[in-house]
Amino acid sequence: MSELKDIFLAKSDVKAHDLEHKRKINFNIDKYNAAVIKGKEQFALLETARKQAKNIKWKAIEQLDKHLELFEKNFQEHGGKVIWAEDKEDALNAILAICKEKNARTIVKSKSMVTEEIHLNKFLEDNDIESVETDLGEYIQQLDGEPPYHIVTPAMHKSKEDIAALFHEKLGVPPGLSPTELTLVARERLRQKYTEAQIGITGGNFLIADTGAVCLTENEGNGRLSTAFPDTHIAIVGIEKVLPTLSDLGLFWPLLSTFGTGQNLTVYNSIFTGPKQAGENDGPREMYVILLDNGRTNLLRKEVRESMYCIRCGSCLNACPVYKNIGGHSYGTTYSGPIGAVISPHLSDMHDYGHLSYASSLCGNCTEVCPVKINIHEMLLENRHIYTEEKHGGVKEKLAWRMFKTGVLHRGLMNTANGKIKNFVFEKAFKSAWGDRRSKLVFAPKSFNEMWKERKKKG
Ligand code: SF4
Repeated sequence: MSELKDIFLAKSDVKAHDLEHKRKINFNIDKYNAAVIKGKEQFALLETARKQAKNIKWKAIEQLDKHLELFEKNFQEHGGKVIWAEDKEDALNAILAICKEKNARTIVKSKSMVTEEIHLNKFLEDNDIESVETDLGEYIQQLDGEPPYHIVTPAMHKSKEDIAALFHEKLGVPPGLSPTELTLVARERLRQKYTEAQIGITGGNFLIADTGAVCLTENEGNGRLSTAFPDTHIAIVGIEKVLPTLSDLGLFWPLLSTFGTGQNLTVYNSIFTGPKQAGENDGPREMYVILLDNGRTNLLRKEVRESMYCIRCGSCLNACPVYKNIGGHSYGTTYSGPIGAVISPHLSDMHDYGHLSYASSLCGNCTEVCPVKINIHEMLLENRHIYTEEKHGGVKEKLAWRMFKTGVLHRGLMNTANGKIKNFVFEKAFKSAWGDRRSKLVFAPKSFNEMWKERKKKG
């Protein structure tokens, strides 16, 4: 068993019994669920929209190389610079080189899971560069020294009272401030950072191949401020975020908003096609896009290729009974919940993260709620298959299943032992896999076949 699996099990056990955690999560997810029902009303043909989105992503990913090269060509034509990063180190080194060239001491960052994935803040901090999160949820998490809890709502596990206490402790403001007052405190502190920063770093929700554009979706305006004030803008985006054409946004923007937060459309949707052009007043002098692979091309294998269609709306997390019980931090990965369990073993390491695919009841709710109709629960099964085939789960369980298979496929063998013996063998063989929280599996004293024979004898 990998060390990370042990940690995952220990953390999950604690969270699953934390009733206060459950109360906060259910409160926030209930609000989300109510909003999504309303948001979906904007689609006259929701199923058609979802199928169309899946087809567009299929097209984008089937010709990923072509679309990325087209993006690069078009983006460069507007004066933008493109950096291809094969892994985390490539991306971090490129960012550091730009920071050194610009003599940057302060960076403002809008919300981006990719920068979490490459641990950018820590890296910059180690290089004496201040990196300030400007999304309110991320700002709260940064103050608390915690990674995001959820891919869309980073501080979902915190109540307004928790945040008031955190601001009081870390920023010295009076205790018990209201949400409006807390927002104003953050806003005042962040405004100053925007004007000080030399570089703004963002992620990107979509890359548009035919126009060479990076699209950013956010609700607070922090993304726009992070890109408008500093002289340099770096957008770091996973290669799977590509869409073939600008007109695809007409479908993807409302889908992302509705399934992400229940809104018809997110408040700020920006399209960046490069740095400020001659005659323009706003925007950075230089703009870079870092196209990040970092294991994404591993997802192109046929069993999990559909996971490349993910638009990171977070809907499958909110729908997952396991996520709601164990919370986002137990996973120990940047991407948590069902989609995190699918992609993390391929982005990182099957041995270290393959166990996450077992953290699912396979109820299929994740697949049901996905706006791009990704077959998530089937890919969890595919991962389990790969995990077992590659023997990451250890040989013990594999042997136990082989014994079980041999037994159930041979009637004679099944009849040689009574229920008591079968219970004993099963308990010994599957002890660790079955766990101690499930009720015991009890075999009938006699098999159906034995009972059938007896009945026939009686005539
Ligand atoms: S897998 Fe689907 S539901 Fe889950 S985050 Fe991605 S797009 Fe949203």
